[in-house]
Amino acid sequence: MLKFFRSAIVPDKYYIFDVESGSLHTVDAVAFYIAKKRYNQLEEGEELYLKDIDKETIEEVNAELEELEKMEVLNTPEVKFNIPYTGEIKALCLHICHDCNLRCPYCFAHSGTYNTPKDYMTFEVGKNAIDFLIAHSGKRKNLEVDFFGGEPLMNFNVVKQIVEYAHKACDKVGKVITFTLTTNGVLLNKDAREWLNDNMENVVISIDGRQEIHDKLRVTPNGSGSQAITLKNAIEFRKIRGDKKYYIRGTFTANNLDFAEDVLYLNDKGFDQISVEPVVLDESDPLAITEKDIPRIYDEYDKLSREYVIRRKGDKWFNFFHYMIDLKTGPCVLKRLRGCGAGSEYVAVTPVGDIYPCHQFVTDKEYLMGSVMDGTFNPDIQKKFFDVNVYTKDDCSTCIAKYYCSGGCAANSLHYAGSLNKCHKLGCDLMRKRLTSSLDIYSVENEE
Ligand code: SF4
Ligand code: SF4
Ligand code: SF4
Repeated sequence: MLKFFRSAIVPDKYYIFDVESGSLHTVDAVAFYIAKKRYNQLEEGEELYLKDIDKETIEEVNAELEELEKMEVLNTPEVKFNIPYTGEIKALCLHICHDCNLRCPYCFAHSGTYNTPKDYMTFEVGKNAIDFLIAHSGKRKNLEVDFFGGEPLMNFNVVKQIVEYAHKACDKVGKVITFTLTTNGVLLNKDAREWLNDNMENVVISIDGRQEIHDKLRVTPNGSGSQAITLKNAIEFRKIRGDKKYYIRGTFTANNLDFAEDVLYLNDKGFDQISVEPVVLDESDPLAITEKDIPRIYDEYDKLSREYVIRRKGDKWFNFFHYMIDLKTGPCVLKRLRGCGAGSEYVAVTPVGDIYPCHQFVTDKEYLMGSVMDGTFNPDIQKKFFDVNVYTKDDCSTCIAKYYCSGGCAANSLHYAGSLNKCHKLGCDLMRKRLTSSLDIYSVENEE
């Protein structure tokens, strides 16, 4: 399967991407349109570009395309892989508390509460969750836990207790466990920063970008903006973090379709690991991103790509998570096919010990998988999630992103397209755009 697109960074640079082999071919306009014709992908009006090309050039380009086909880097046929089902779980999302000190109106968890009582996980529940993970991890040696909320630092002592217990429990059985914590940064004081720096493999701090953007939505219960404290704490954390993993995670909404400005603002504040992602909300919500916003968002990704390659050559180098791609090695093929692993190799545990496929399913009783408190676990739900992958979703089979998005977000499929096996069109459009931007950046950076 071949996809054709133009560079948004360098004028007159054209690409042919062979989806199955992952080969990206850079061509000029002449070869681009000859190839489009050869593979029946000329769009309306594009015949025009071929009318002045002489016969010899057409033959020469076709011979080169044929050569690339023989090398299996162009028009490569699909090879289907068998995805083995082991039932092993390798990661937990621990909902350390269902409470939050902010009131962001776009919060899918309703101010961190998930519409439940403001529960805080006890050490007892956390301990059982770690035991559950170890018991279901089979032969996997490396395990992961994400501390999530609400705001996990509101139950910080229990986080510390669980980490200490988890290391001891894993040592006993020869496994290694690493941790990530996601925080809104309000309680990220000196003690918290130092402890997280020592104990977390990764720390995710939520900041939406420019002060006026952040403070409009990321508000305290009395309605005031939270950026001053969050940004100050995040900058201090960055200073001690060195080259250990962290990233600043922002959300863009209909309020800031010029989100490239927010990415660059965060970079200007000294951060070099940045992810700013589209909000996912029902289209009736005034903050929702809808189909009509897509052309504007595509332009914004293009603008960001151009500035990104410039900054990465100078002293403002940074990583934008959606632009990270490795065409040479990339993730293993099974990871590419299987996606995020929610419900199959990754599950969420609530403060009271209930197990769900991921944080986006919490409180949906149809997807309650069991409880770490009574040892119940429903393998049928696990298998159902395992069975959702790029091979089972019709739209994925012809998608340029199928080996990079790996079937998309199961939660968005269910909540916005009505079925785990359907695709969330808006999310897919943005995913494809980010992929072509990443390929463009990869090519530009590797050819210079
Ligand atoms: S900080 Fe996070 S959990 Fe808290 S209200 Fe905002 S989005 Fe929700
Ligand atoms: S972007 Fe959509 S269609 Fe493409 S692979 Fe991902 S989920 Fe499938
Ligand atoms: S289903 Fe979606 S929200 Fe849940 S873990 Fe996967 S990508 Fe994330």
